[in-house]
Amino acid sequence: MSKNIPITVANGDGIGPEIMDATLRILEASGAPLNIERIDIGEKVYLAGNSSGIEPSSWESLRRTKVFLKAPITTPQGGGYKSLNVTVRKVLGLYANVRPCVSYHPFVETKHAKMDVVIVRENEEDLYAGIEYRQTADVMQCLKLISRPGSEKIIRYAFEYARINNRKKVTCFTKDNIMKLTDGLFHKIFDEIAKEYPDIENEHWIVDIGAAKLADTPEAFDVVVMPNLYGDILSDVAAQIAGSVGLAGSANIGENVAMFEAIHGSAPRRAGQNLANPSGLLLGAVMMLVHIGLTEQAERVHNAWLRTVEDGIHTYDIYDESVSKQKVGTKEFADAVIERMGQVPQLLKAAKYQQASGGNPEAGKATAARTPEKKELVGVDVYLDWSAGSAKELGEALSKVNDDGLKLTMISNRGVAVWPGGHSETFCSDHWRCRFMADGGATVLATQTISLLGRIVTAGYDAIKTENLYTFDGQVGFTLSQGE
Ligand code: NAD
Repeated sequence: MSKNIPITVANGDGIGPEIMDATLRILEASGAPLNIERIDIGEKVYLAGNSSGIEPSSWESLRRTKVFLKAPITTPQGGGYKSLNVTVRKVLGLYANVRPCVSYHPFVETKHAKMDVVIVRENEEDLYAGIEYRQTADVMQCLKLISRPGSEKIIRYAFEYARINNRKKVTCFTKDNIMKLTDGLFHKIFDEIAKEYPDIENEHWIVDIGAAKLADTPEAFDVVVMPNLYGDILSDVAAQIAGSVGLAGSANIGENVAMFEAIHGSAPRRAGQNLANPSGLLLGAVMMLVHIGLTEQAERVHNAWLRTVEDGIHTYDIYDESVSKQKVGTKEFADAVIERMGQVPQLLKAAKYQQASGGNPEAGKATAARTPEKKELVGVDVYLDWSAGSAKELGEALSKVNDDGLKLTMISNRGVAVWPGGHSETFCSDHWRCRFMADGGATVLATQTISLLGRIVTAGYDAIKTENLYTFDGQVGFTLSQGE
């Protein structure tokens, strides 16, 4: 028993216990040497007064085993309950969400017979840092954070995943034509890292047209890596158009711990009736077996499952009279997979796993330290909550605080330059960005920006925030306004 690999298992809510039972029976039949530690998560933990849905003691098990097989949970209605998924992801630093979206034509109905796409979504950064502010009566703000190490980790993970899984191409989606610094950094790092993988094709698409192409012609893509928000949306689109939301599993990979699950929820209305399809959780478990190095067992389980689907043994959710042979419940489906252990599919592509993707030390590595750049303060944007007049009036009045080497050079509203010049048609909200730059392009001292802020407040303005303007080795570290 001592050679067994420890994993942490949570049954979850709704259909969770049934699909977990089916999954574990199949894993056992594959001969996977696992040592299962059980923890409680979800509804009953929430209702026992734990607002994050997980008991403090459960973290110990996760830290010990480093592998978490998790069934879906029910998040109780009403406020005050924090998403367990987000908590686990953030606490354990699960930076990569990996979701294979495969069609099983002609055995499962889909418009995309040849689809076989893996979405690799950055899981920790972007707009999901959850840093939001209400700054004026009319304007809310959400901070979008993209970091160099965060982007390097996820992009390198995507290339390593492609290499290990014999994938030919990695595509990157961003919106860097608009978000030149944040998405621009992600794209730039993609180009840098792609050079380290000359054996793998690479390409970049602007996310809007890329998403349209993905929905229309998914067979044009192989592995697609994206920042968090685009990945969140498009991984659901990809799973849905594969025709099989109920069949998809996903992996959340961190440097120390990894979590594997189905992508669907706890389907409470189907609970306790031996109806649910265990395939999503099972395919999540297959990714887990690969991750912990049990590639032979992963292959056996995956191929027995493909053969079962191919043999027309289907649960109600994918049952279709024209292709299905037998409608079965959760338990009988698991029995059918176990009976086919050792068999391979005849029409569908058989699964082949070579090496543990998560076990590869290259995956998820950030690049080594770089030479530091010279960072210089060259100005400051001061944001005002103001609704007492026009842009022209604000520009003229605010120019009076120019002093001490700092000069008002531009005012923008919602990113559009409105002073000096500007267009009468531009709608202005109560949220103004006033840019002060050093007279003659000199370097600014932090104390100059502080005394500027003092003059602005003394003049009676409501300064709601400031944003320092830097150059890095002379390169501008801020964007210009539309029309500046
Ligand atoms: P859901 O995924 O549970 O169900 C959507 C639909 O798909 C339902 O019609 C359901 O019957 C069907 N379905 C889902 N999984 C199935 C399966 N394995 N076999 C057969 N049919 C299946 O989504 P929902 O109804 O929006 O959410 C239910 C609960 O699940 C909510 O409390 C939600 O918060 C939670 N949820 C949890 C997770 C998670 O733990 N990872 C993810 C999504 C939703």
